[in-house]
Amino acid sequence: MASDEFDIIRRYFNSDTLAFPATEVALGIGDDCALLRPGAGMTLAMSMDLLQEGVHFLADADPFLLGKRSLLVNLSDLAAMGARPLCFTLGLCLPRVDAVWLEAFSRGLAEVAQANNCPLVGGDTSASHPDSGSLTLCIQVHGELPAGEALRRDGAQPGDHIYVTGTLGDAAAGLGILQGRLGATLADAQRAALLDAFYVPESRIEAGMCLRSFANACIDLSDGLASDLMHVLRASGVGAEIDLQALPLSAALQGCVPQALQEQMAVSGGDDYELCFTLPPEREAAMQAALASLGVPVRHIGVVRAQQGLLWRKEGTLSTRQWQGYRHFSAAHMPDEGEH
Ligand code: ADP
Ligand code: MG
Repeated sequence: MASDEFDIIRRYFNSDTLAFPATEVALGIGDDCALLRPGAGMTLAMSMDLLQEGVHFLADADPFLLGKRSLLVNLSDLAAMGARPLCFTLGLCLPRVDAVWLEAFSRGLAEVAQANNCPLVGGDTSASHPDSGSLTLCIQVHGELPAGEALRRDGAQPGDHIYVTGTLGDAAAGLGILQGRLGATLADAQRAALLDAFYVPESRIEAGMCLRSFANACIDLSDGLASDLMHVLRASGVGAEIDLQALPLSAALQGCVPQALQEQMAVSGGDDYELCFTLPPEREAAMQAALASLGVPVRHIGVVRAQQGLLWRKEGTLSTRQWQGYRHFSAAHMPDEGEH
């Protein structure tokens, strides 16, 4: 049984599997600061997510999957900028010392840290206030990219084509299954695929780094296509038209819910952590070849227009449909998805 914060850090976090050496990490856990040495000419990229028990995840969430997901959603922000992960830091506010929870959580973190060559280099550990009784965790990822090459939200140009990686709506369906609202008749494999999409989003780090050579703008889809694409359009001072029939939907999603709901989940479901990006059509072939060589599926879903606003095309008709409501459904599980 771990007795104090230093014991917790030593047992669960300052381990070979989690705090492993990396070229850019001159000094990891143990001193007042970690020391990094980013490559010459590189810009540092950093991003933080705060996750609170009862707000962003339920108290009974599987700690192994929670560990994986917490780091993956942070890495997704690095991917969206085209950054390569260097390391991460971890803040923990614990209501109790639960060895089983800590072991599984740190194992989940370690799996994703190793797969993305992103070691844990420091953090802070504290007991939460006795009245609060809930667990809060905070992760900050640090990455690097060549100066001036970041994939920003404000670079979309009229005439750019709009693309997404992977498939959309699966995580929303996974959440629906977790809530017991969906998937009662679904085959085990499809059910597992949708739950996986929610808990373990694909790391798009390689895709993001590759897209530095092609994309004008990029964002990761945490709140759903409709909401996240609007961030790109507003930042870039442009509008867009999206073809609803072009949205990439998985066989599992199609087997899980009726067509209208598939569309709604794909557009406003959230939690997919796929990349949405824009580039001029003349770069399309080269981008597709590059992403294919990484094994990353990509789909052309629309076009950037000079005129502001977001239009949805379906069966030849354009609408300005506002996609709302589905997030309230998801909010029943996670009342405030402010982690994104
Ligand atoms: P200080 O008092 O100087 O802020 P701490 O005593 O809080 O340092 O932490 C000791 C060392 O352990 C530091 O290197 C810190 O980064 C690291 N550390 C603390 N908590 C964690 C954690 N949850 N995960 C990883 N490293 C941690
Ligand atoms: Mg100190």
